[in-house]
Amino acid sequence: MKLFDVYPLNPIEITKGQGSLVWDNKGQEYLDLYGGHAVISIGHTHPHYVQRLTDQLHKIGFYSNSVEIPLQSQLAELLGKVSGKADNQLFLCNSGAEANENALKLASFYNGRKKVIAFKGAFHGRTSLAVSCTDNPKIVAPVNQTENIIFLPHNDETALERIFSESGNEISAVIIEGIQGVGGIRVATESFLQKLRSLCDQYNAVYIADSVQCGYGRSGKFYSHDFAGVEADIYTMAKGMGNGFPVAGISIAPKFKPWHGMLGTTFGGNHLACAAAVAVLEVIENDKLMENARTIGSYLIEELSKLDKICEVRGRGLMIGIDLPEELSHVKKDLLFKHHIFTGESKPNVLRLLPALNLKREHADRFLDALNKTLNQ
Ligand code: PMP
Repeated sequence: MKLFDVYPLNPIEITKGQGSLVWDNKGQEYLDLYGGHAVISIGHTHPHYVQRLTDQLHKIGFYSNSVEIPLQSQLAELLGKVSGKADNQLFLCNSGAEANENALKLASFYNGRKKVIAFKGAFHGRTSLAVSCTDNPKIVAPVNQTENIIFLPHNDETALERIFSESGNEISAVIIEGIQGVGGIRVATESFLQKLRSLCDQYNAVYIADSVQCGYGRSGKFYSHDFAGVEADIYTMAKGMGNGFPVAGISIAPKFKPWHGMLGTTFGGNHLACAAAVAVLEVIENDKLMENARTIGSYLIEELSKLDKICEVRGRGLMIGIDLPEELSHVKKDLLFKHHIFTGESKPNVLRLLPALNLKREHADRFLDALNKTLNQ
């Protein structure tokens, strides 16, 4: 059997990692500024994370959701504390798409409605509802149900007001990334999010903050919506939550009342997943990683803005997009094969940085120097 060929691959085999560095099977060192697409939040092989997961694996790795798993409550309590949402309820699942799927379903259970507002440039995952809310027709199959999804231009308050005044009572939910990731690091303005909050309140629609990529401290605050002082009804999270272990969740406001069997999944909240997620939050707190994301992120954004040959630098904390005037794939390849730095991209010409939240200043400098050389050669 061979692999279903869906990912274009670099001819590199990564066999080891520590912090923001990884090594290939030939011993070559690379600086990892992509963290497997925002997944590596606390750095590769963080000792506290390795210890917690190893200890847990020696005790028990999995038992079904039919028994009490105190680690789940421990995780919920810690997440409530670190995210500042102590009164919310946590549902655990396995991926970002699954988290969004459940959030949209929960909203529809709550208000009995069908229509969902999503935005141009959005990415919410590849399961049925999540992909229907994703602005990329190439990945939507005929079986996916798009007829209830309304796409609006991003950051357009007038369009938002218009749709609510026309059909506000039919709208179940609005799903929005505080900072669009796949869409090219586009930050939602504070006034747009505030407007969205007040319209959702007025029409009893559910505000879903897709925080899969921009959440978990990446922006320098736990949720990027915190910058606007806005409280979402549901936050979805995945990626950085497990630092590589598949774990996802939704943080649900107290007004949503569950019934048994309403949501569920076999692997969600298993012992190992919870151990990984608890370890990540402990490191975020103990090592003050949100503070580091703010400091190093601001430094990078400021220094990048000084480079010529860059059209625009966007982002917050350690979620940064660099709009380039020239062919992006050439820059990305040069960074990888000449300077040994992993970066990401968003179409058409945005170089995307999603490094670990404990990125060091010396590594930020290594990147700035390499990018300057690449752009000026
Ligand atoms: N939402 C956002 C904002 C994402 O960036 C992604 C993944 N790129 C997803 C949802 C889907 O997450 P997953 O791949 O874990 O299903």
